[in-house]
Amino acid sequence: MGIRASKLAQKIVLMAFGVCYAFILFIWLSSINTLTLTQSGGQWSSDQLNTGHQRRNSFSGYQERAARSIFEARDSSVQKASNNNNNVNNNKNLSPKTTLNDIFISVKTTKKFHTTRLESILKTWFKLANNQTYFFTDAEDIKYNNKTGGHLINTNCSSSHNRRALCCKMSVEFDTFIDSNKRWFCHLDDDNYLNVPQLVRLLENYSPLQDWYLGKPSIRQPLQIVSRDGKQDNISFWFATGGAGFCISRSLALKMVPLASGGKFISIGDQIRLPDDVTIGYIVERLLNKKLTVVDGLHSHLEAIKVVNRDQLRRVITLSYSQMSNIDINTL
Ligand code: UDP
Ligand code: MN
Repeated sequence: MGIRASKLAQKIVLMAFGVCYAFILFIWLSSINTLTLTQSGGQWSSDQLNTGHQRRNSFSGYQERAARSIFEARDSSVQKASNNNNNVNNNKNLSPKTTLNDIFISVKTTKKFHTTRLESILKTWFKLANNQTYFFTDAEDIKYNNKTGGHLINTNCSSSHNRRALCCKMSVEFDTFIDSNKRWFCHLDDDNYLNVPQLVRLLENYSPLQDWYLGKPSIRQPLQIVSRDGKQDNISFWFATGGAGFCISRSLALKMVPLASGGKFISIGDQIRLPDDVTIGYIVERLLNKKLTVVDGLHSHLEAIKVVNRDQLRRVITLSYSQMSNIDINTL
């Protein structure tokens, strides 16, 4: 009886082990199955897992970049453009890539410089952007209108170098850009050399659907305007020097339209009694409360070309020449 009972107990223990073993084996096999399904892209579970994961990742990555760059923009007195595309463009994925054809290149010139400065442009960088570049002058010139492929626009503004004449030309440049279907308005002087591919590369980093004012100041501090009658507060703002070239996105230009189109630009210039490039800065920074973004690759004639590092030359966007003194010419 005692022996029978102990044999029964042995059998029960063996059966319990067997059941446990089978149970563990079952759990193990089913876990391998789930793993295989997930890794091999099994229809349901893998799609759910991977897509959800990716969406979460890219969303949080996008948010982080956007928040950081907007914060930087508001925090600093002057906003610096970055060469690192990832830091600059939050919207690369939201709008089609900018190409040369999206840019309206606007060059201010005057009759007396057609045979010299304009001729130099036509022989050099114009060849790379002849469909996108327009020249704004102050006289009819059939010869150069032909040479530019009909892109020489007579603004009928005065040919002098005074503030009003320059504002008059800028006003026509701005209106002509607005009438075009281009995404970027880039202004240059006729003593600028433009590195066309580098300009395109720069603008690829910014969305024309956002408000961008890209340029380079020629002064170290924001410009201060002192109220003449003492009744108003003094104001200060940054402006991009016209002689280095600057660009404005269509989104920002459209916001400028109520203030600056149809000749209103000249009236604003008259109010502040400052030149065209300063007037642009005043409209953007003071009237529209947007910020200039500084682009280091732009160079006015106020910067000696000699100090531009030779290694950097390929990457500069604009250069400008001038006769700095009788013997010292600002060229390479
Ligand atoms: N300019 C003009 N009328 C003039 C002299 C110059 O429209 O009587 C234009 C010129 O074509 C250039 C810009 O103004 O695009 C700046 O001229 P410049 O380089 O001679 O002088 P800066 O102001 O740069 O010292
Ligand atoms: Mn100049």
